[in-house]
Amino acid sequence: MDIFYKIFLTLFGLLIGSFLNAVIYRVPRRISIITPRSSCTKCKKLIHWYENIPLISFLLLKGKCSKCKTLISISYPLIELTCGVVAFLLVPQRVTSEALIYFVFYFGTFAVLLAQFLIDLEHKLLPDSINIVLVLLILPVTIINQKWNFWLLGGLLGFGFPFVVTWFFYLLKGKVGLGGGDIKLFGILGLYLGVKGIFLNLFLSCMLGSVIGLSLIYFLKRDKKEPIPFGPFIIFVAVIQIYFPSYFREFSRHFLGF
Ligand SMILES: [Zn+2]
Repeated sequence: MDIFYKIFLTLFGLLIGSFLNAVIYRVPRRISIITPRSSCTKCKKLIHWYENIPLISFLLLKGKCSKCKTLISISYPLIELTCGVVAFLLVPQRVTSEALIYFVFYFGTFAVLLAQFLIDLEHKLLPDSINIVLVLLILPVTIINQKWNFWLLGGLLGFGFPFVVTWFFYLLKGKVGLGGGDIKLFGILGLYLGVKGIFLNLFLSCMLGSVIGLSLIYFLKRDKKEPIPFGPFIIFVAVIQIYFPSYFREFSRHFLGF
């Protein structure tokens, strides 16, 4: 029976990966994710269902549109594969209804964070509609598992601290530092991570952002004025915090003393 779940949930992961490709392409371009049906971005040929099977279609089409032979980005099968592998790894040892709820939470949260990561990287934007899905995944699990003050204070610090800093930065320099999407994302993650966790995320994502931002300017001669999307740093740290929590407990005990 368990092998059945393993296969079924992995296929589910691949399908969500395929859906995620549509989300990542359409949401930042303000195209509905339901209609119209997928088409080639070049020649607009409609994509048949058999050309839209995760991984398999890409291999059968040899990575090209069947009509105009335009190359299909390798990112499509890579996102499908990533979601399939993550789903496979997250399938619970013993399948119970509770374990399945947590599977949905962990896998869904991963998929949402992956979409936000890639959209922010390309469009410098964290869409509200996807942030709302993250709230819907995080809030029920947090309310069940944590006292009200844990998530409420975490959310308030996550939203309030970067909001106040950005506001002061704006008053001083007349420039907006962090985008609204980043501040909302901090707030939502604060619900799950609590005060300590979101403090750690704020600290580490800023460190990571500074190091990578300065390296890009220094080594790759990137224009200083061109803004760098900050969401990927928040998400990178959050993924380790959510999926490898013990690693972070050790880190904060050793280096930060709490
Ligand atoms: Zn085409």
